[in-house]
Amino acid sequence: MEQSKELHRHWRAAVDYTRGRSPATFDRWFSRIQFDDLTDGVLSLRATDLFVRDWVCDHYLPSIVEHLRQATGLSIQIAWTVGGVERPVASEPAEAEPAKKRAVRASPKRPPAPAAPPAPAVVAAAPSLPPAPEGLNPKYTFGNFVVGPSKQLAHAAALAAAGGGGRRYSPLFLCGGTGLGKTHLLQAIAHQVLARDPHKRIAYVSAERFTNEFIAAIQHKKMDEFRRRYRAECDLLLVDDVQFLAGREQTQEEFFHTFNALHALEKPIVFTSDTYPQRLERMEERLISRFTWGLVADVQVPELETRVAIVRKKAEVEGVWLEDEVAMLLAQSVRSNVRELEGTLIRLAAKASLLGRPVDLAFARQEIAVVQASRPAVTNVDEIQRAVCHHFQLRSADLLSKDRHKGIALARHVAMYLCKQRLRVSFPELGRAFCKDHTTVISAVRKVTALRESDPQVRAHLDAIERRLTGSG
Ligand code: ADP
Ligand code: MG
Repeated sequence: MEQSKELHRHWRAAVDYTRGRSPATFDRWFSRIQFDDLTDGVLSLRATDLFVRDWVCDHYLPSIVEHLRQATGLSIQIAWTVGGVERPVASEPAEAEPAKKRAVRASPKRPPAPAAPPAPAVVAAAPSLPPAPEGLNPKYTFGNFVVGPSKQLAHAAALAAAGGGGRRYSPLFLCGGTGLGKTHLLQAIAHQVLARDPHKRIAYVSAERFTNEFIAAIQHKKMDEFRRRYRAECDLLLVDDVQFLAGREQTQEEFFHTFNALHALEKPIVFTSDTYPQRLERMEERLISRFTWGLVADVQVPELETRVAIVRKKAEVEGVWLEDEVAMLLAQSVRSNVRELEGTLIRLAAKASLLGRPVDLAFARQEIAVVQASRPAVTNVDEIQRAVCHHFQLRSADLLSKDRHKGIALARHVAMYLCKQRLRVSFPELGRAFCKDHTTVISAVRKVTALRESDPQVRAHLDAIERRLTGSG
């Protein structure tokens, strides 16, 4: 029993690892795969049909096999069975079910069948290189970033910060609304710098994580190590979402000294923020002033032509074939936020692939019409609270209660985050709407922003609720 749990854990870790590096359609494919067994290096899998088996073989197995090989120390052979998958998913997987759970279904052991594609070769990192920064999305490169007039300055400045020529400003402060490509640009700098010189020591961190690491360092008396990482042993500091330092006085103080130390050593620093430095709330004046020492570049909502180009680029990256008219239709239909634009494309592609049809204009029109017809313009906190309650199957009283039960707290934090993202409301207003102090709301929004990046389950919850809010669920 213990052993089977252990094997299952290996499988799950390999799937999660691979999902993190794969297109967003990953879960749609994996919902049609079943894990049967892993004994003596034989991985027994089941697929709903040959098509799914071949696709998964070609696209995802090498990474999974490699991960399993490292975890178990065995060379891995695959035994496929086609058919007999328990509860195969007919159309879209249930929204409320988190992605992680969907991907894996255990079942009793079966004897392995023949057929075994060889395991792929391993690429080991040279030991002398510094560890690669955590949390980088391999797709967030300059190559995958579409530059339109709305982002020219930010893009050029980011390229220069990565050593790509042009005057290098430090600090570079990238700011603008949500889902407009700030994190993408920030990570592109890291990728580019590492591609040029893998010995460069890059600290890539969200302000949220910086805060948590700082607190942990104090607790465990590891301030020396913390300071080494962000000062002495850092060639480039990239800080995402600095607005989340709001109200954290001690972290701001530490951050101030980090900044000064790096600046004195002429190490480049890049920040992103959801607003201009001068508009940052509850931020020390001296930090705000430093944020503006170099260059402040904003990213704006892209214009139509750029949105079309972004859709095409995303389709290319995700391996989706799109007619030009479909790219245009999408770009016309989703205007304000690139993340939503991308989400719509991916849903369309996933649905088409499950139905076994191309993403042609007729299909896209029909899907987008459904979205738009039912799109309720979300205008108030109530509506978001209702959508969140519906998703998590809670009563609205739970959301406003003092209950700290984990599930309820998550739902509450998610609701606060969505309100802040989608409505023009201040933290104190939100505090009142949730019967909480405004600092609670600030910390909830911070938490969910960080989780959205790091936790696939939270991302699945948010996607599902956002679909409901935009009427496409
Ligand atoms: P922000 O950090 O500003 O909230 P992100 O960098 O997370 O936004 O971008 C949201 C999504 O939109 C990402 O998947 C990103 O790749 C994509 N995106 C935004 N702008 C562009 C662009 N100009 N070209 C390509 N993709 C973009
Ligand atoms: Mg971001």
